[in-house]
Amino acid sequence: MKVRKRDGKLQQFNCEKIYDAICAALNSANVTDKNHIAWEIASDIKQELILNKTKIIEIETLQDLVEAKLMTSGLTDVARRYIRYRYDRERIRHSKSKLMIDISEKLNATNVENQNANLDEKSFSGRMNEANRVVMKDYALYNCMSEMARNNHLNNEIYIHDLDSYAVGMHNCLSIPFDRLLKTGFTTRQCDVRPPKSVNTAMQLVAVIMQLQSLQQFGGVSATHLDWTMVPFVRYSFYKHFVNGLKYIEEGTLDFNKEEARDVSINDERYKKYPKVYRYAYDMTEKETYQAAEGMYHNLNTLQSRSGQQLPFSSINYGTCTLEEGRMVTKALLEVSIEGLGSLRKTPIFPCGIFQCMKGVNRKPDEPNYDLFKLALKSTSLRLYPNYVNVDWSNNAGYDINDPKTYLSTMGCRTSNGFDINGLGQTKDGRGNICPVTIIMPTLAMQAKKDVEKFMELLDKKIHEAKDMLLERFEWIASQPASSANFMYQNNTMEGYIPEEGIRSALKHGTIVIGQLGLAETLQLLIGKDHTEPEGMELAKRIEQLFKDRCDQFKQQYKLNFGVYYTPAENLCYTARNKFVEKYGVIKNVSDKEFFTNSMHVPVYKEMTPFEKIDIESQLTGYSNAGCITYVELESTSKHNIEALEALVNYAMDKDIPYFAINIPNDTCLECGFTDEFNDNCPMCGSQEIQQLRRVTGYLTGNYKTAFNKGKIEETDMRVKHNKIY
Ligand SMILES: [Zn+2]
Repeated sequence: MKVRKRDGKLQQFNCEKIYDAICAALNSANVTDKNHIAWEIASDIKQELILNKTKIIEIETLQDLVEAKLMTSGLTDVARRYIRYRYDRERIRHSKSKLMIDISEKLNATNVENQNANLDEKSFSGRMNEANRVVMKDYALYNCMSEMARNNHLNNEIYIHDLDSYAVGMHNCLSIPFDRLLKTGFTTRQCDVRPPKSVNTAMQLVAVIMQLQSLQQFGGVSATHLDWTMVPFVRYSFYKHFVNGLKYIEEGTLDFNKEEARDVSINDERYKKYPKVYRYAYDMTEKETYQAAEGMYHNLNTLQSRSGQQLPFSSINYGTCTLEEGRMVTKALLEVSIEGLGSLRKTPIFPCGIFQCMKGVNRKPDEPNYDLFKLALKSTSLRLYPNYVNVDWSNNAGYDINDPKTYLSTMGCRTSNGFDINGLGQTKDGRGNICPVTIIMPTLAMQAKKDVEKFMELLDKKIHEAKDMLLERFEWIASQPASSANFMYQNNTMEGYIPEEGIRSALKHGTIVIGQLGLAETLQLLIGKDHTEPEGMELAKRIEQLFKDRCDQFKQQYKLNFGVYYTPAENLCYTARNKFVEKYGVIKNVSDKEFFTNSMHVPVYKEMTPFEKIDIESQLTGYSNAGCITYVELESTSKHNIEALEALVNYAMDKDIPYFAINIPNDTCLECGFTDEFNDNCPMCGSQEIQQLRRVTGYLTGNYKTAFNKGKIEETDMRVKHNKIY
């Protein structure tokens, strides 16, 4: 007699196997004389099968027989345990096979989701990476966190970001302290790098450091004030060119050496007394700075540093330095951005340029960097970058006007470093986000049966659980050895590392943040209108106030930088909505699109002017201190109206918006290079090879029709233009 197993294989019938299974069930029940009972039942079953002349029996049928036998023997409790045992085995089998299916889909790239627009899921390394992520996520869920955390994630209540990086204990992102690294040099696994002595070398090292750092973490890297950072290196270059000029153009000497030139303004009288040499050195330095910026752009768009051919998520903040040298750097960065890359002058995807708007510096015609602000607007009109960050933002109060490291800066996506409770204050450099979670509010609204008070209670409970999830992960990350990220800890790219205290000494300056998804849909569920109406706004403020109060309280209580985060949700907007529909179905104005609205944004399909959108969102941005972005959609024709863009940016800044971006359609013909909005066919040459560039979280991405996930594609297609800007 044979037994057919689940995989179809036949196996000799073995009475002892039945005996073992019954024993296992009996063991957990309170029964005396277990062995005897088990043996009796097993023998009975064997007898029956022989009597019936059974030749082959299915394993499931055999187990059914055991169950029935236990029941008829009056052992109902044991039978129940046996059923439970079968069920558990079934579940384990199922999860194992599900895991293998997921892995093979990723390895064969048959399930390309484009969760991250920067990653090529079809490439060799992308397939390997994606398969690996499936395993790492599964491992993290079942081995690295509490049941509370796991359930919140699986139940679509609180989402754990970058779950695949959880188990190894990586952190998210970092603003790199370039001033120090470029001054002292740095070490890598293979060599020591000396401090650069020219603007060209310095800019290339910026790209290299960004690449190295991005291997130590899962998120983005930024430079917080690159124009200021480059000042000494522009001076080195100027000195070099000046000395050459003294050799060939005008005879003379300088009473300081190259090292000392670091602290000598290029407008110093000792230079200016040789006017011809001065002009020569100035021109050469300006050219070198431009080439340096161009080289850096090339590097940041080609150094694929992570598997899946990813580029580092790089962001560069600039625009406030009024020194001649810093202005030269900002001008070069903007000119390279405007010029575009490659033979077709394509819009660079990285770095994300961020212009730092600052009162008295670059906002008005009589201010020293106003010309650079205008140049920035021109670049935005053609290239979508730069975005605009508000140095005067009320939540960045207490910054030091003499220290650009404390000026408000941001990661391209929106993550930013608020006030550090552990001693670094408003300093941005050497700090970053350690980890985020996101509360999926529409799920909570359903659980609260659309009752506002119940919802607020539940939200409060979930904010507390989110805090516990962040603490769990923070401690997990802090328990990793420094040797896992040698570049970071040997060079102190994350500030504050004290070897005797472990890496917690550095991580504690970073932020741990509670994000949110779908405020608009949540309000629809609770009161049938969103925050574009006064009643909706009133409730929105109550919700955001709760987030803020709790984060402030946790920050004091745990001495860690808890913060309110308006989550980008590039992939989550889509997956969370799908999970929601599985459970609650399609609900009008809530889940009838392929996505949930990002954080507290106004839904993309609401018709309004850009000023109205700013008016609404600016009422909520003040509740966040860990990052938020507001963007508006314009017609491609607005690129010819720089004054209108200027009015818009100024309006946003005056309304205390911390981080602002303007979306102007950017379709580039890959045959002739023509750029405008034209979707399918190039109006110039008729080509259908079009790159359609759109903003996804704050960053740009390549062709959105192929690089975005389904939810984001629909969201992008549904974006209404916020016109009437004139
Ligand atoms: Zn064309």
